[in-house]
Amino acid sequence: MKENAWKKYDEAGKKEVFDFAEGYRNFLSVNKTERECVCASIALAEEKGYRNIEECIQQGVRLHAGDKVYVNNMGKALALFVIGEEPMEKGMRILGAHIDSPRLDIKQNPVYEDTDFALLDTHYYGGIKKYQWVTLPLALHGIVAKKDGTKVSVVIGENEQDPVVGITDLLPHLAADQMKKDGGKIIEGEDLDVLIGSMPLKDTKKESVKAHVMKLIKEHYDIEEDDFLSAEIEVVPAGTARDYGLDRSMIMGYGQDDRVCAYTSLMALLEVEHPSRTCCCILVDKEEIGSVGASGMQSRFFENAIAEIIALCDTESDLKVRRTLQNSHMLSSDVSAAYDPLYAGVMEKRNAAFFGKGMVFNKYTGARGKSGCNDANAEYMAELRRVMDQEHVSFQTAELGKVDQGGGGTIAYILANLNMNVIDSGVPVLSMHAPWEITSKVDVYETYCGYKAFLKHI
Ligand code: MN
Ligand code: MN
Repeated sequence: MKENAWKKYDEAGKKEVFDFAEGYRNFLSVNKTERECVCASIALAEEKGYRNIEECIQQGVRLHAGDKVYVNNMGKALALFVIGEEPMEKGMRILGAHIDSPRLDIKQNPVYEDTDFALLDTHYYGGIKKYQWVTLPLALHGIVAKKDGTKVSVVIGENEQDPVVGITDLLPHLAADQMKKDGGKIIEGEDLDVLIGSMPLKDTKKESVKAHVMKLIKEHYDIEEDDFLSAEIEVVPAGTARDYGLDRSMIMGYGQDDRVCAYTSLMALLEVEHPSRTCCCILVDKEEIGSVGASGMQSRFFENAIAEIIALCDTESDLKVRRTLQNSHMLSSDVSAAYDPLYAGVMEKRNAAFFGKGMVFNKYTGARGKSGCNDANAEYMAELRRVMDQEHVSFQTAELGKVDQGGGGTIAYILANLNMNVIDSGVPVLSMHAPWEITSKVDVYETYCGYKAFLKHI
């Protein structure tokens, strides 16, 4: 069994681990939606000299080795590239992660009033244990697109002075029937409605509490009730990510699946200058609901981006696009289920991911007989072992729980369909998909180092 990664660091090394975690913790605290992650990532990239590809196309800019560009897909997904010395068709080194997380989405006709309460109807997004989302302080993040073409950004519940919203639960005194239900039915999807007000508007007869809330929304944001028809507002846990544990060795925060891999991948890429092969980081949306849709990994977005870049570096060539993809190597990065001694029964200990043991490689994921997984080639895994050892990166290998217990998927197979070498990798997480997830600072740091090693040597 591999040694705990903390043990290899002296005080100065630990400080580096903690300093990196601080940047990550701050990123996590303010970026709780895919749109917010794209905006923040673009800002960080532009500081490092990345340019929007749209601008390059419009201005007829040619791309050369060392140039940095990004492709923004509808404000919800992002691909960033540093052009290598070698031609693109030799293949790229790709880091990929997703920036959407489980949450509650506001429905299109959300606002209603019942017994002098104003509530918002929601439709949950991704795999959640519904009972975990009640009696928590919740925040609203998102955008409202108006008919006149303008967009209004909404963030309510994050400043100390902001109000929060939330979902109520039944008192135990009256929960005799509720407590007999299956876990999946203790709180039902249609009951995840968010309480947003209780004070009636004076001199209004009909639905005066709702009228009052709508008046406040109109005053602050200039939004009418109909504007919810074209809005994307996500209900997420309110508050910042925190140091966790008396030794501050861990981080508790919302949306670490998969922003922990997104942030570490992005940070690793942003350090790359003048690589031999083109390096790339993809941050995608919709993984939690199957990677579907225009901003998900199954979209043609990524292939289109490569085609544009090849045209700007060289000449338009569909064959070169295909060769570029086929000759590429990728780390498809997503979180792993960390071994939890309280739930030891679902894990097979020799093939589980542990806190403190560093970056995780999953040769395959899938469920019940590897179904639906990308099973990485042994030869590729061997190369990665060599590179990680060379750079002294602590890593471990894992499966997602016991063989017949369940399973899961990632974006790995979608890129593998383009016939490149892909392996799942990432960071172990405790309480995955819960409103507040936990990671180990040393695993976050080792993973960041692992991504840097990959971009340098593969
Ligand atoms: Mn994930
Ligand atoms: Mn997930």
